Amino acid sequence: MMDKNKYDYLIVGSGLFGATFAYFARKAGKRCLVIDKRSHLGGNVYCEQIPFPLGEGKGEACINVHKYGAHIFHTNNKEVWDFVNSLVEFNRYTNSPVANYKGELYNLPFNMNTFCQLWPDVHTPAEAKAKIAEQVNEAVMVINQQRQVKGLPLLTPSPSGEGWGEAFNLEEQALCLVGKDIFEKLIKEYTEKQWGRDCKDLPAFIIKRLPVRFVFDNNYFNDRYQGIPIGGYNVLINKLLEGVDTKTDCDFFAQSSIINQQSAITQANWRSIAKCLVYTGPIDEYFNYRLGRLDWRTVTFKTRVEDTPNYQGNAVINYTSHDEPYTRVIEHKHFEMFGQQVYDCPKTVISEEYPAEFNTSPTGGGRVGAEPYYPVNDDKNNALVAQYRALAHQQGILFPEDLNGCLTGETNGRGLEGRGEALFGGRLAEYKYYDMAPIIEQVMKLWLS
Ligand SMILES: Cc1cc2nc3c(=O)[nH]c(=O)nc-3n(C[C@H](O)[C@H](O)[C@H](O)COP(=O)(O)OP(=O)(O)OC[C@H]3O[C@@H](n4cnc5c(N)ncnc54)[C@H](O)[C@@H]3O)c2cc1C
Repeated sequence: MMDKNKYDYLIVGSGLFGATFAYFARKAGKRCLVIDKRSHLGGNVYCEQIPFPLGEGKGEACINVHKYGAHIFHTNNKEVWDFVNSLVEFNRYTNSPVANYKGELYNLPFNMNTFCQLWPDVHTPAEAKAKIAEQVNEAVMVINQQRQVKGLPLLTPSPSGEGWGEAFNLEEQALCLVGKDIFEKLIKEYTEKQWGRDCKDLPAFIIKRLPVRFVFDNNYFNDRYQGIPIGGYNVLINKLLEGVDTKTDCDFFAQSSIINQQSAITQANWRSIAKCLVYTGPIDEYFNYRLGRLDWRTVTFKTRVEDTPNYQGNAVINYTSHDEPYTRVIEHKHFEMFGQQVYDCPKTVISEEYPAEFNTSPTGGGRVGAEPYYPVNDDKNNALVAQYRALAHQQGILFPEDLNGCLTGETNGRGLEGRGEALFGGRLAEYKYYDMAPIIEQVMKLWLS
C-alpha cells in the first residue's frame, strides 16, 4: 500500500530544475521523491566517468565525459555563483572555442584574433571595422540586385542608422551583420549542418545578433563567472540531492502493463504517494500529445578513446564546413585538466557531435536513443506550446512565473500546497531553451525571494 502522505512533492526529472527544487524544498522541511526515467540522476548535465591509470604507483585519473553535450557553467548572477560554489568548488575553465574551416583555424567568438586570421591586411580595430563594413555593403548590394530581379522590396538602412531593414532569411540576416567572409567560412555551412537546411531556407530570427568584438579576447562568454565543477557535474547533482529520496529507471508515463505495480510511480498513481507534483518532462507528453507533437532538434554523439594525451589542444573545436559531417569535436579532459595534468593522463576521450531532427511520433524514426534538446521556437511550435500552457492552466497547473516569487515566507508559508496541485518547470516542460544558471536562478527565486 502506498502512503499518500509519504511525500510532499513528487519531482519528475532529476535535471538541474528538479534537483535544485528538491534541494530548497528539503531545506524548507518538505519531503521529496525525485524520479527519473534514465538510469542515472542529473539530466543533461550528467557525466560518465572514464578512469585511466596514470602509471606505476600513481593511481588513476578520471575523465568526465559530458554524455549529453558539453556543458560550461556561466553567469553574471553572484548569488547563483555563490550558491553553486557553496556546494562544489568550480575551476577556472574559460570557454574559447576554435573553428576549423577546411583545415584553416580561427578563434571564436568573432574578435580581433579572428579578423587578423581572416584578413592578413587587418591589424587594428579600425581596420577590422572598416573591412566588415565594406563586406556588409558589398553583400547588401548583391542581395538588392537579387531582390530587384524578383520584384521584392529592397533592403534600406534601418531608421536607427544601425544595420539594415528586414532580412528574408538567415543568409541575408548574417550577411547584413558580418559580410561575406565571416558568413561563408564560419557561419553558413556550420548552421546548415546544425539545422539540416540551407541558410536561405532558415528564418532570419534564428540569428538576432552576431556579436563581434574589436578586442583580442577569445573568451566566448561575457559573463563575470564561469567554470566547471571540480570533479564534474555529478558532484553538484549529488550535493543538491543529498538527503532526498531518488529513484532512477522510473518513467512517469510507463504503462501499467509493463511495470511492477508495487514500486512504479506514474501519472496514474502519483497522488497515492505525494501531495504535489513538480514535473520537468516534455509538456506535450504530459497531455499524451492530444494537441499535437512539438518539434525538437537533437544531437547524437560518437564518443571514443584516443591513444594520445592531447588530441586537439582545446575542449571545443567547431567544424564549420560540409567537409566533415559533424559540427563539433569535444575533448572532454580540457574542461578539467590543465597544464601538466593533460599529459599526466596518457589517453583522452573525444566526442563528435551530429545534429539531427528529433521526431517523437511513433513513425518518425528519430526516437530511439535520441533526446529532445533544442526547442524549435518557430510560429507553429510557439502557437502549439501556448495551447498546451492554456490546457495546463485550465487544470490548475502552475509555471514558475505564476508563483511570482516565493514558496516560503511569512505570508506564503505553505510551499506549493494550497496554490496548485502541480508545477511545470525546466526546459522540457516550458519548451524553452535555458542555460543552467537561469534554471537555478528561477528555482532560487521561488524559494528565497
Ligand atoms: C547539447 C546541450 C548543451 C548545453 N550546454 C550548455 C552549456 O554549455 N551551458 C549552460 O549553461 N547550459 C547548457 N545547456 C542547457 C542545460 O542542459 C539546461 O539548462 C539544463 O539541463 C536544464 O535542466 P532541466 O532540469 O530543465 O532539464 P534536463 O536536464 O533535461 O532534465 C529533465 C529530466 O527529466 C527526465 N524526464 C523526462 N521525462 C521523464 C519521465 N516521463 N519520467 C521520468 N523522468 C523524466 C529526463 O530524463 C531528464 O533527466 C545545454 C543543453 C544542451 C541540450
